[in-house]
Order: sequence, then C-alpha cells, then structure tokens
Amino acid sequence: MKQQVAIITGAGSGIGRETAKLLAKKDMTIVLVDFDDNNGQETLEAVKEHNQHAIFVHADVSKSQDVKKYVAAAKENFGKIDIFINNAGILSPPSLLGDIEEETFDKVIAVNLKGAFLGLKYVLKEMEQQKSGVIVNTASAAGIQGQPYLGGYAASKHGVIGLTKTAAIEYGPSGIRVNAICPGGVVTNMTKGLESSPEENGPMRRLATPKEIANVISFLISTNASYVNGAVMTIDGGLTS
Ligand code: NAP
Repeated sequence: MKQQVAIITGAGSGIGRETAKLLAKKDMTIVLVDFDDNNGQETLEAVKEHNQHAIFVHADVSKSQDVKKYVAAAKENFGKIDIFINNAGILSPPSLLGDIEEETFDKVIAVNLKGAFLGLKYVLKEMEQQKSGVIVNTASAAGIQGQPYLGGYAASKHGVIGLTKTAAIEYGPSGIRVNAICPGGVVTNMTKGLESSPEENGPMRRLATPKEIANVISFLISTNASYVNGAVMTIDGGLTS
C-alpha cells in the first residue's frame, strides 16, 4: 500500500477524532480504535468523507488481547503500520491523594499507562521489522508537573513520558521516532463540566481546540519533524512555563 497507514486510539472523540479527520484529509489510511462503538462509527463516517481507506476496531486499550487485535487488523487490512497515535485516556474523579479509592487509581493507570505501554509493545514489534515508523503518545501537562486532585492521572501521564523517552532511545536506531505531546486543557468530552477560570487556563486565558492539538500531532509525524525524537512537546498555551 502506497498510502501511509495510521492507527489512532481514542479515535471516537476529542483529540483522537480530530486527528483522524486531519490525517484522512492528508490522504492517510486510518485504523480507528475506541471502546465506544457509536462514537467510533461516527468518526469512521467523518473520516470516509475524505478517504475510503479506513476501518474501526472496537478495543479496550488496557487489555492485551484487544491491543493485539487492533495491531493485527491494521496488518491484515493494510499490510503495515507507519504511524501510531497512542492517545486513548481517561480522567479520574478529582480527589486528594489520601482519598483516592484504590480501584480508581488502578483504573486510570490501567487505561492511561498500561494502555500506552501495550500499544507501544505490540506496535513497536511491527515497526522494528519494517525498520520505520513514527509514534506520538498523548501525555499531558499533568505529565510534567503535579496536578492537585488528579494524582492518579498525573502519575499515569508522568509514566507515559517515561515510556516515550525510553522507546525513543531503544528504537531510534531502528528508524523509529517516538515523541510525546503534553496538552493543557482542551475542549473535549474529558473537560466537559470541569469548571476553570480564565486565569487557571494559563497565559492564553482559554482552552485549546482539538484541532490545535491535531495540528501538532500532524507536524510530529511528518518528515518536517524527521529529527524530532524523544521530545516532550507542550501544547498548553504557556500553562507550564
Ligand atoms: P475524549 O474526548 O474523552 O476522548 C478519549 C476517547 O478515548 C474517548 O472516545 C474514550 O471513550 C476513549 N477511551 C477511553 N478509555 C478507553 C479504553 N480503555 N480503550 C479504548 N478507548 C478508550 O478525551 P480527549 O480530551 O480527546 O483525550 C485524549 C487524550 O488526551 C487522553 O489521553 C487525555 O488524557 C489526553 N489529554 C486531554 C486533555 C484535555 O484537556 N482534554 C489534556 C491533556 C491530555 P469514552 O468516551 O467512552 O470514554
């Protein structure tokens, strides 16, 4: 297949959906992954307006069987994986560390950190054989600084950055680039209902649009970023400056 093949997890909504639409417009073949079938199908329809080469795979990124399934679907349908946007994630209910329920902590780590790890584990194996590939892991501003009342989330995103840097070092020699993005607040379902004052949103006094995040992802996977590897790129309007 001549077209580039991209897997995007968490593609049913928000940053994942916007990235899928943008990459489809750039004529890429897309494997959409989400565990919400309705949202996944909606993204699939939107993507197919730009490029018919797209499939949706139902998967829970925290389960290795499901991760193997979406990697196999990409290979079986399109023969290769050029791009991996390791993006699915959840927020946990705000709580002081001492009050976080153990199950709540386990869940956010399972989806955000183990899910990112499993994606890397199985996609890197394929890319290593190809001797090429580019990966963007969605971390967060909460991956580079503490996040009051979101301790489990902050821990999971710090972990995603650890995985990113390690993967960049281990797989750079195989022609694979691995970077992380760290959005601040973005207008998606994740932030719906969360109150924040303009000052809390940082110097730009507003949240980002999903498109503003997708544009940076699009740059990172492009040849314009051919020497960017192991980078932890903030997209937070200066929030963590
Ligand atoms: P979103 O609109 O909620 O999209 C996330 C998507 O991932 C949803 O479709 C969600 O399904 C799906 N998902 C959740 N758990 C999954 C699982 N176990 N397996 C497969 N899919 C799963 O949120 P978003 O803002 O676009 O978030 C995308 C990424 O950006 C996340 O990693 C998030 O942590 C990160 N991020 C977001 C912000 C922000 O302010 N929005 C800031 C920094 C970083 P459901 O809708 O059914 O849960």
